[in-house]
Amino acid sequence: MELTLAELVLTVVIGSGAVVLFCVVVSRWQHAGVEKKSLEKRFICRLCLHGWVDEGNDRIVRCPECGAKNERGRSRRLG
Ligand SMILES: [Zn+2]
Repeated sequence: MELTLAELVLTVVIGSGAVVLFCVVVSRWQHAGVEKKSLEKRFICRLCLHGWVDEGNDRIVRCPECGAKNERGRSRRLG
């Protein structure tokens, strides 16, 4: 069986499309895991609502914007 140029191009396009789709799905899946992890390090200042990520383990973290103290692991609903 011999491929014409059109068939060859079509095969390449569909093939690369499938590869791209696969990469998108995999990267999204990996990104979701990273998001979940970094959620514990993510802070939103209770005073100025500035959002940032803190890599440390201190219980009290100061807001880099206004310097207000924010408690780690505190539920936003409870305030
Ligand atoms: Zn702040």
